[in-house]
Amino acid sequence: MKLYNTLTRRKEEFKPLEGDTVRMYSCGPTVYNYAHIGNMRTYVFMDLLRRVLKEQGYKIKGVMNITDVGHLLSDADDGEDKMEKAAKEQKKSPYEIAAHYTKVFFEDLKKLNIDIPEILPKATEHIPEMLDIVYELYDKGYAYETEDGIYFDISKFPEYGCLSGINLEDQLAGARVEVNSGKRHPADFAVWKKAPKEHIMQWDSRWGKGYPGWHIECSAMSKKYLGDVFDIHTGGVDHIPIHHENEIAQSWGTTGKNPAKFWMHGEFMLVNNGKMSKKLGNTYTLDDLAAKGYSPMCFRLFCLNTHYRKKLNFTFEGLDAAKTSYERLTAQILKHKSSPAATDKALLGKYYEEFEREITDDLNIPGALGVLFTMLKEKPSKDIYELAVKMDGVFGLGFADMKEEKKPQEDIPAEIRAIAEERSAARQAKDWTKSDELRGRLAALGWSVKDAKDGYTLTKN
Ligand code: AMP
Ligand code: ZN
Repeated sequence: MKLYNTLTRRKEEFKPLEGDTVRMYSCGPTVYNYAHIGNMRTYVFMDLLRRVLKEQGYKIKGVMNITDVGHLLSDADDGEDKMEKAAKEQKKSPYEIAAHYTKVFFEDLKKLNIDIPEILPKATEHIPEMLDIVYELYDKGYAYETEDGIYFDISKFPEYGCLSGINLEDQLAGARVEVNSGKRHPADFAVWKKAPKEHIMQWDSRWGKGYPGWHIECSAMSKKYLGDVFDIHTGGVDHIPIHHENEIAQSWGTTGKNPAKFWMHGEFMLVNNGKMSKKLGNTYTLDDLAAKGYSPMCFRLFCLNTHYRKKLNFTFEGLDAAKTSYERLTAQILKHKSSPAATDKALLGKYYEEFEREITDDLNIPGALGVLFTMLKEKPSKDIYELAVKMDGVFGLGFADMKEEKKPQEDIPAEIRAIAEERSAARQAKDWTKSDELRGRLAALGWSVKDAKDGYTLTKN
């Protein structure tokens, strides 16, 4: 199978470094707020990668961190700690803030059928591991102390910028990154920050009380659970130029190696072709979409329609199209499900082969959906249904749980509803005369009622 590696800027053949287990690290959420649908797109990408690897017969040892401390508001090591800021605003402890948003985050992942990684370490539970790396970097001379923290000296790592293609000379010459007093170079980054007294979360260190830099968290947790060098590291494209460059620099300073063989990044979701931001009021959550009548599965299909390395522009028109498409898909799946098995094995084999070709070509899920849609146009057959369910091991669109949609009964006037309810009560009381009389009244008003096992449906004549 081929995967695009940000590090080499090309698609490469993928094989795990050891045996048939893929060791994979995914940058997880900073749990100070509700995750928005852009964040969710990145986790859907992680999920698709996990599902395709499993489909290819690999086992996965996946780690996704929970950042519950120290992720600063700006990448330039200035600004407040996001967790502390939320805690102050909501008058709660950072631990309460983290517990609440972590819970909601995992509920959202479940709603989207996201295959949750095996190991979910919290940053606050790995401070000693982080300090081990900080001490080693400092003792080897790769990090130095300033008034407010311990900083990695990027001039010591000639390959700094290898992931994003930013060259060190330019980095060293430019002053694009905000200057922090005491830093040798503007792009040097904090591995440990000294905590001011009022900082709620703080731990003992050689330099007194402090808290970790964000990048060191991922380096420490990936090293602990996956070793010095593992197979795949994932995240959103925004992580390429700073967060992931810094993780590579830290690993290089301690192990002399790049920690991951493959670096994979999901492109961003935009809203109306622009950035998603709180200020613009366009950061929707899954709950916001549900309140507008869009199910998580319809959002998932919306994500699947665009390749993970392409920008995805979110609009409600686009989501409407995905909703219609999901309804049509449900109807087709159910039609095949209720038909006898009757498809030629060779034809089924051909479809599965085409499907596999797409998913192993750097997760071409839109291409694989194309194969599915063509297949569903075949003569109705349970064989097709079963193959679609097998493919759904990758799509994760819930084919096996699809049910006939009950028509919403919202447009029924209250008066009609009341008569139907009265009739339903009469039927339960076995008062057939009254029930028939009420049916007659409904008919006179232009409505017919059809009884079912679990209630009734009303239709306008
Ligand atoms: P954060 O909690 O801010 O660290 O973000 C969690 C994940 O969501 C990271 O992997 C980000 O790269 C990713 N992310 C943030 N914004 C977007 C977006 N608009 N589209 C896709 N992914 C995003
Ligand atoms: Zn990370």
